[in-house]
Amino acid sequence: AAGSRRDSLVFGPVSLEDRESSIATIDRGMGIVDGIEGTIGNTPLVKIRSLSEATGCIILAKAEFLNGAGGSPKDRVALNMIEVAEEQGLLVPNRGDTIYEGTVGSTGISLAVLARARGYKAHICMPSDMAREKSDLLHHLGANVERVTPAPITDPKHFVNLARTRAKEHTASDSPSRGFFADQFESQANYTAHLKTTGPEIYAQTGGRLDAFVAGAGTGGTISGVTKYLKEERKLTNLRVVLADPQGSGLYNKIRHGVMYSPTEKEGTRRRQQVDTMVEGIGITRITENFEAARSLIDDAVRVTDEQALRMARWLVEHDGIFVGSSSAVNCVAAVVTALKMPKGSRIVTILCDSGTRHLSKFWKHIGEMGLEDETQEQDEDLLAVLG
Ligand code: PMP
Repeated sequence: AAGSRRDSLVFGPVSLEDRESSIATIDRGMGIVDGIEGTIGNTPLVKIRSLSEATGCIILAKAEFLNGAGGSPKDRVALNMIEVAEEQGLLVPNRGDTIYEGTVGSTGISLAVLARARGYKAHICMPSDMAREKSDLLHHLGANVERVTPAPITDPKHFVNLARTRAKEHTASDSPSRGFFADQFESQANYTAHLKTTGPEIYAQTGGRLDAFVAGAGTGGTISGVTKYLKEERKLTNLRVVLADPQGSGLYNKIRHGVMYSPTEKEGTRRRQQVDTMVEGIGITRITENFEAARSLIDDAVRVTDEQALRMARWLVEHDGIFVGSSSAVNCVAAVVTALKMPKGSRIVTILCDSGTRHLSKFWKHIGEMGLEDETQEQDEDLLAVLG
């Protein structure tokens, strides 16, 4: 089989049967991996020393920016969505099939890479207010990028609705190829990717010894998949699951008070959260299927301001040499807030979603403009002061 795989790599596309790496068998280890898919998963769980020292707890962060295809947890999701579609015959390699998705960036980047690796095209609809480097990257990866003016989810021109429409238009055309709408917000293939890989990895890496799991929700796939694995499959019923929510998102209120908005704000009609926050990738103004999947298992929520996130991002670089994007910073703020309410020595696991390099033109530029980089070491010795 190895010989035929090498031949097929040289002379033509690899057939589905020949592929070794699959979301179900992710094990990147130290050996040779089969293609870019083999660089996905098995990310390290990093103890963040400065936050652990400051809180008296053990703060552990899953370094998801090390996923090798698109550099975020969305690699796992994109691979699973593609594999499920292939199993169902919705995607057939090298037929001109196109994967359509509405995304703020990360999922699009993972899909664009994996589409290239597996014989598909990618068409990505994204809001025009996302950091420029994400759409530039998509372009270089060969994806078709449609940047659309931010609109409410009820509007047919909302980036998710547009992607769905484009997939339908493709399939309805005369071409023998198909359009596949990946649908990360509603597709079960999203949270099941984390149920099958991220959750089990965290369990194995901690030996099942963890007291809290803290994560933000963009689609809700990560928090749902990991929580379902740990609380339902592994029966860690005492595990405290905390949602990290940026300002402008409706999820904090949903978890804390059962409703997304005050009666004056009608659900779903607000503009998307990007008008309210610097943070990209997490925070939503509606309940998705992927969030709903484990909503009843989430114990609490922490709201994080942009200023806290910006200060945390800079703190992590200065004290730990960890350079991350905005959603990772939000997660770390919420992890610290959670740690301070728990007994000393508690183990808190969170997620570092993507690298700061994806956020140079917006989030990190703002950190520079705020003058945070010029503050002296003395000024920010105290983490609590830094977080306000
Ligand atoms: N961080 C970033 C940078 C993201 O793009 C996303 C997904 N939109 C998330 C975090 C949140 O992940 P999830 O969709 O699994 O809730």
